[in-house]
Amino acid sequence: MRTKPRRVIDSHTHVFPHYVDLAVEVMDRCGIQRSVTLEWHDGFGRALQEHLAIFNRYPGRFTVFGNIDFRRINEPDFGPRAAEQMEQDVASGMKGLKIYKALGLEYRQPNGKLWRINDPRLDAIWAKAGELGIPILLHTGDPPAFWQPVDERNFWNGVLYGEYAWWSYYRKGFPSLDELIGERNQVIVRHPNTTFICPHVGSRSECLQLAAEDLDALPNLYYDISARIPVLGLPHHARNSRDFLNRYQDRVLFGTDVIYDDTNVPTGVQAQCLYQPGEIPLDEDFRRAYVDSTVRFIESHYRFMLTDEVQENPPFKRSLQGYSILGLALEPLVADKLLWQNAARLVPE
Ligand SMILES: [Zn+2]
Repeated sequence: MRTKPRRVIDSHTHVFPHYVDLAVEVMDRCGIQRSVTLEWHDGFGRALQEHLAIFNRYPGRFTVFGNIDFRRINEPDFGPRAAEQMEQDVASGMKGLKIYKALGLEYRQPNGKLWRINDPRLDAIWAKAGELGIPILLHTGDPPAFWQPVDERNFWNGVLYGEYAWWSYYRKGFPSLDELIGERNQVIVRHPNTTFICPHVGSRSECLQLAAEDLDALPNLYYDISARIPVLGLPHHARNSRDFLNRYQDRVLFGTDVIYDDTNVPTGVQAQCLYQPGEIPLDEDFRRAYVDSTVRFIESHYRFMLTDEVQENPPFKRSLQGYSILGLALEPLVADKLLWQNAARLVPE
């Protein structure tokens, strides 16, 4: 069975500019023509311009999504000023905007309350993206298990301890996942001329019925599948996932969420494998090991999408008990839409 797709756009990556050569090496080995790289909180103004200059050393290989300077969120006129900055950043070459889950879960007002995603003071930002014709990759929430006790039944218990314990929102006074997604959807309704790509199946990979209802209700909403293959491929869930992707084959983008940054590249293990530091086999040639582990990680995605293979303990660390995923063997046309066509249309070069 063919396990290397004909053409691929990876719609969700995080490449620190000084690892651009390493990312290109991985892309070449995996047949990825273009990657959408999401800046890491500082993608605006001068820093963005410097990063763009580096990515542009590889013409056509990277599409850069920038950020808003959320350090200023409590300053007067934050929304309109951020919108102005976006205009300049698009002129510099920014092709989309990335908003992290920190909106809804981290950014606080002076009174200590969290900023709501649908706060009207942010509307200028969402509207400006529509005017400028750039999509917004809007990450809201996390898997429902992050709101549940971290015990042996929690599927994400291979992640939510040690270094990543702070990702657990269980009984810490955070809004619920449904509240966050409700606020997100209000933003999408209020801005019908703006394209929203909500990563990780819109944080609804566990309940594709809800994911589908949102797509039906919101024509300007799209998803990517990044970091959710461990859930989509669970043997009891894979058939639903296949039906879902067939039905919404024009609304979903392929993405890996691979990360190339200073805290992870020196470990030699692709960050998205989410190993705890003590579990990482430190390799002398960490650069080579990082390339190899990232290639294995991406190839696992291809096997999941294109074959009906069962992968035992795939290279996505999620559950301490271990787990397996079942390949979806998507039809070639459906796979090509996810892997290429939808991104080529929504996120042009
Ligand atoms: Zn990401």
